[in-house]
Amino acid sequence: MIVVPLGIASATPTSIRHLPSVALWREGSVFLFDCGENSQMCMLQAGLKRSKIDSIFITHFDVDHYSGLMGLISTLQLQRREKELNLIGPKGIKEFVEWNLSFSGVEISFDLNFVEVNDDIDEIRVLDTDDYYVEARPLKHKKFCLGYRFQEKDKPGKVDAAKAEQYGITDDEQFKSLKAGNNLTLEDGTVIESYEIVGHPRPGDSFAYVTDTEYCPNAVKLAMGTNILYHEATFGNQLADKAKETGHSTAADAARVATEAQTKLLVIGHFSARYTNLHLLLKEAREGFYPTWLAHELRPIFTDPSHERGIIEPKVELIDLTKKKPNSGAGNYRGGRPSGGRSGGGRPGGGRPGGHRSGSKNFRPRKSRDGAPSGNRGRYGTSNHDNRGSDRYRQNDGGSYRSNSGGSRDYNNSDRNSRYDDSKPNKSITPRTGYDDFNRF
Ligand SMILES: [Zn+2]
Repeated sequence: MIVVPLGIASATPTSIRHLPSVALWREGSVFLFDCGENSQMCMLQAGLKRSKIDSIFITHFDVDHYSGLMGLISTLQLQRREKELNLIGPKGIKEFVEWNLSFSGVEISFDLNFVEVNDDIDEIRVLDTDDYYVEARPLKHKKFCLGYRFQEKDKPGKVDAAKAEQYGITDDEQFKSLKAGNNLTLEDGTVIESYEIVGHPRPGDSFAYVTDTEYCPNAVKLAMGTNILYHEATFGNQLADKAKETGHSTAADAARVATEAQTKLLVIGHFSARYTNLHLLLKEAREGFYPTWLAHELRPIFTDPSHERGIIEPKVELIDLTKKKPNSGAGNYRGGRPSGGRSGGGRPGGGRPGGHRSGSKNFRPRKSRDGAPSGNRGRYGTSNHDNRGSDRYRQNDGGSYRSNSGGSRDYNNSDRNSRYDDSKPNKSITPRTGYDDFNRF
């Protein structure tokens, strides 16, 4: 399994942090925990196909935790999804989604399987399949809020192929039966016990998602023995009072849950916008529980790195600032967001002929599904200059966004800060192309 934080802010997004959402990738399916604004875009950037979403789990009805839900459902509809979608959350989620759909007159072509959790339960399995189950428990927040645990069921042990050959077992059905724990009687009457051929069962992977909450026993129960616990750490120790007052945890609270639950790895997220240096929170968490990581948007966390490395390739390159930049040649640069290629549409009479990016010869124009170039279909609406504005945002990782985002700035003016001169390729970033995620991954 792979855990990909998509949004690690709390309450309000910042220039570099999105609203809460965490994706769990397992064997080609995606399970989304919370769905804040922008989750679906972050999925694309992380290299996760939206069509692969199997289930969406909403913790509670604070707007920042579900504000991306309707947008995502709308996208799935536009993608002509056929597969059923599981939608799990506190009671009310069905009414919310159905009201929205009927308000906008949208008819969904796929089935929505709602699982609503009443506020009087203490523990419930909201999903249960042959391979895994998901358990929900109420947490301690200002309103009814659920924590989730995704648990793979134990896998059968490995078959000893050499021994099986000795006994003359070749049939798939015989292997299946032995793996299921049944004994096997061969044609000559020999009985083979399952344990002779099949090793010990292998424990399933596990992941717990705990936010928003104060410290509470149910958080520990959800996280008990998990491989990865994603826990909120909205505040630092200095604001412990505020944490209690607002029904949130400090980094030390998260560490306490991890310690008591003996989880293998604690990942903290859901940070208050007031913290620009998250290492303060990391330090406080590590004082209580050393194997703690900071959640990093789009940075995947592998439960078993040896098996899963390379499955997800983020479409936005993550830069390790502690390492020196490799000296890659300019020839590798693939161009960037092709606003030149979109210049035909948008604003009447607008658009700069030829585009503004000299290195765009490698650019392949966005194509619609029927293969025709789509031109400017207006994902960003009206202005090429606006597109360039978002380029800047992306290329600079948000750090300087604020200082350059003034609406009054005249982008036609030639006083462009050379830092943002996108005719010079920024080699450290692999820009996204205009492709949607069809046919990817
Ligand atoms: Zn929250």
